[in-house]
Amino acid sequence: MSNRILLLGAPGAGKGTQSKRLADAYGLEHITTGDALRANKDMETEYGTPREYMDAGELVPDGLVNEIVDAALADADGFVLDGYPRNLSQAEYLSEQTDLSAAIFLDVGEDELVRRLTGRRMDPETGDIYHIEFNMPDDEEIADRLVQRDDDTEEVVTDRLDVYYDNTEPVIEHYRETGDLVEVDGEAHPDEVFERISEVIGEDPSDD
Ligand code: AMP
Repeated sequence: MSNRILLLGAPGAGKGTQSKRLADAYGLEHITTGDALRANKDMETEYGTPREYMDAGELVPDGLVNEIVDAALADADGFVLDGYPRNLSQAEYLSEQTDLSAAIFLDVGEDELVRRLTGRRMDPETGDIYHIEFNMPDDEEIADRLVQRDDDTEEVVTDRLDVYYDNTEPVIEHYRETGDLVEVDGEAHPDEVFERISEVIGEDPSDD
C-alpha cells in the first residue's frame, strides 16, 4: 500500500524541507498548496486572486484550495501533503477524498518560528530556501539574488501565526483525538527530524 502522509505544523516548522526529502526518498508526490498558489498568485478566480489573501497572511478560500488538492490527488499514488489541511473544513473534505497512512506534526515553539520565518530567503531561480543567520549560500552570485517572500515580513508573519493558532491547531487536535497524530520535535537538526519521520513511516527509504 502506498504511503499517504500528512505533514502538519506551523508556518516555519520545516514542512517544506521535510516534504521534499520525503518525496525524493520514498518516491512520493509532493503536494503543496502554498507552492501551487504562489505559482498562480495573480490568477483571477471567482474568489479574487490568491495574492489578495496570501499577502495579508490569510487563508485562501477552501473552494479554491480543495480544487488544487483534488486535481493533485487524482494524479498521485503515494503522496506527502504539505500545507493542507489548514482548517477543519479542509480536513473533513480530505477525509472524503482519501485515507491517510500517517499524520505527522512538526512541533516548533513560537520564538523559533518567528526567527526562522523572518530570516528565511529564497532563491527565485531554483526555489531553494536559505536563512540569513543559519544557512547562506557560499556562492556570492546566489547570495546576491536571494529574495524574501512577501509574506515572511515581520508584520505578516504575526498574522500568519494567528491564523495558524485559530484555524490549524484545531486540525492537529482533531488528528490527536482520532489517534492518528505522531509528534516529532521540529527543533531538532533537519537530518534528525527526517530520521524520526522515516521511523514513523517504518520503511527503509532505499527500498523504494
Ligand atoms: P505556505 O507556503 O504553506 O506557508 O502557504 C502560503 C500561503 O498560501 C498561506 O499563508 C495561505 O495564504 C495560502 N495557503 C497555502 N495553503 C493553504 C490552505 N491549505 N488553505 C488556505 N490557504 C492556503
